[in-house]
Amino acid sequence: MAKVAKKNTLKLKFDSARNLAPAPESKRAAKIDPQYDLFINGKFEKPVSKKYFATINPATEEKLSMIAEANTADVNKAVKSARTAYDKTWKKMPPAERAKYIYRIARMIQERAREFAIIETLDGGKPIRESRDFDVPTAANHFFYYAGWADKLEYAFPNRKTEPLGVAGQIIPWNFPLLMAAWKIAPALACGNTVVLKPAENTSLTALKLAEIIQEADLPPGVVNIITGAGATGAAIVNHADINKIAFTGSTEVGKIIQRAIAGTNKKATLELGGKAANIIFDDAPLDQAVEGVINGIFFNQGHVCCAGSRLYVQESVFAAVVRKLKDRLETLIVGDPMDKNTDIGAINSKAQLDIINKYIKIGQQEGAEMYQSSCAIPKKGFYCRPTIFTNVAQSNRIAQEEIFGPVLAIQSFRTDDEVIEKANNSPYGLSAGVWTDKGSKIFNLTTKLRAGVIWANTFNKFDPTSPFGGYKESGYGREGGLHGLSAYINLIK
Ligand code: NAP
Ligand code: MG
Repeated sequence: MAKVAKKNTLKLKFDSARNLAPAPESKRAAKIDPQYDLFINGKFEKPVSKKYFATINPATEEKLSMIAEANTADVNKAVKSARTAYDKTWKKMPPAERAKYIYRIARMIQERAREFAIIETLDGGKPIRESRDFDVPTAANHFFYYAGWADKLEYAFPNRKTEPLGVAGQIIPWNFPLLMAAWKIAPALACGNTVVLKPAENTSLTALKLAEIIQEADLPPGVVNIITGAGATGAAIVNHADINKIAFTGSTEVGKIIQRAIAGTNKKATLELGGKAANIIFDDAPLDQAVEGVINGIFFNQGHVCCAGSRLYVQESVFAAVVRKLKDRLETLIVGDPMDKNTDIGAINSKAQLDIINKYIKIGQQEGAEMYQSSCAIPKKGFYCRPTIFTNVAQSNRIAQEEIFGPVLAIQSFRTDDEVIEKANNSPYGLSAGVWTDKGSKIFNLTTKLRAGVIWANTFNKFDPTSPFGGYKESGYGREGGLHGLSAYINLIK
C-alpha cells in the first residue's frame, strides 16, 4: 500500500514538471530575410552560381529562408578579397587598432543577443535557454577575450617575434553555429589573419547575422568573408591554392579527407573532430551531483556535442543506485518546442541526423543492450528523439565505440581504477572525459592517464574562452581557446 502511494506521488511530480504552462519566446524579436547572399569583401553579393538552397526549422519542418550556394568561382572571389585585405590593410594595421574592431564585434553580439538566440534556436533546434544562456554569451566572450590578446602577442610568446599566417579557410559544423564561428574568427583576427568562413549548410543564419554585425562594425572589407554552401563549397576552400591555413571542426571522416587534400602543401591545419567521452563515477562521488552532471553531459544540445559524455562508467557498488537515479531524472526532462523556455531537450538538428540516431538505437538493441527511454510524448511534426539510456553494454558494442551525436547514453560498470582507465582509453577518440570522486588523488591519477584533451572533474561540459580545447587520436589535433588558440594562427619567426 505504502509503495503504491509513493509511486503516485512521484508520478504527480513528474506530470507537473512536464505540464508547466507554455513559456514561448517570441519570434518577432528576430528578423529573418527570405533570402541571403554571400558576404564577400564587406558586401552581400549574389552568388556566381545563381543557386540557393532552403534552410528549415527542424522543430517544425518549416522553411525559414533561402541561402546562397557558393561554387568554386564564388570561393575564388572570397579568397581574393581576403588576400587583398590581408596584404593591403589588416596585417599592416597596428594590433591595438585591430583589437578595437574585435571588441566592437563582441559588444554588438551582446546588444543583439536576443535576436541571435532566437535565430540560433529556430534554425538549429536547440532549446532557447541554451542559445540564450550559453551559445550567444560564450560567442561574445570569445571575441572579448581575443580582442585582449591582439596587442599582447609579445607576452603570449615571450622573446619571440610573431607573424600572422595569411588567409585562413574556416569550416564549421551545425551543432554550435555562432559559437564555432566565434571560436574560429576571433583568434584569427587577433593574430592578424583574414578569413573565409563556411558555416554548415543546415545552420547558416547566425553566421550571416554575424556578417551583418561585421559590416556594421566597419571592419575593413574582405577581412572576414562568410560564404555559404554544402560540402563541395568546403572542399573548394580546402583546395584553394591561396589559403594558408585550414581550421576545421566537424566529423572525423571529413577531417581525414581534408588531411589527405592538404598533404604536401604548405597549408597549416587544426582539426577538431568527433568524440566518445567517458564519464566516470566512483563510489565515493556525491551521487546526485554526479547524476546531474551525467544528464548535462549527454543531453545538453540533444547530445549534438563533440565532447558529450556518451559513455558512462559507474563503479559496481553504486551502479544500481546511479541507474535508478538516472531513470528518475530522465522522466523529468521536458522534450519539445525549442522556443519554449521550459524545454530541456529540443529538436534533433535534421532528419538525416535523426535517422542516424535511430539507426544506433536499433543497433544497441540488436547487440543485446537493454534500452530505457523517457516515457514523454514528443511532437508529431519536426525531428525529435526521446532521451535514451542503455545498460548491459559491452565495451565492444558499436554504441560504446562509435559516435552517435544524439541523446543516447551507453552505461557500463567497473571495479578498479586500472580497469576503468583501460576501458575509457579503449576508443579511437580522445577529446574529453569526466571524473566524479571525492578524492583529489584519484582525480590526479586519472587525469594523467586518460588520453583526452579536456578532462572535467566533478563537473562536465564547462567552457571558457581562456581554456584550450582539442583532442588526441581521431578527435583531431590543434587547440582552440586560450593562449594555445593563438599558436594556431601565427608563425614564430625569431
Ligand atoms: P561534417 O559533415 O564533417 O561537416 C562539418 C563541416 O564540413 C560542414 O560545414 C560541412 O558542410 C563541411 N564539409 C562536408 N564535407 C566536406 C568536405 N569534403 N570538405 C570540406 N568541408 C566539408 O560534420 P557535421 O556532421 O556537420 O558535424 C558533426 C561532427 O562534428 C561530429 O562528428 C562532431 O563530433 C564534430 N564536432 C567536433 C567538434 C570539436 O571541437 N572537436 C565540435 C563540434 C562538432 P555541410 O554542412 O554543408 O555538409
Ligand atoms: Mg536549419
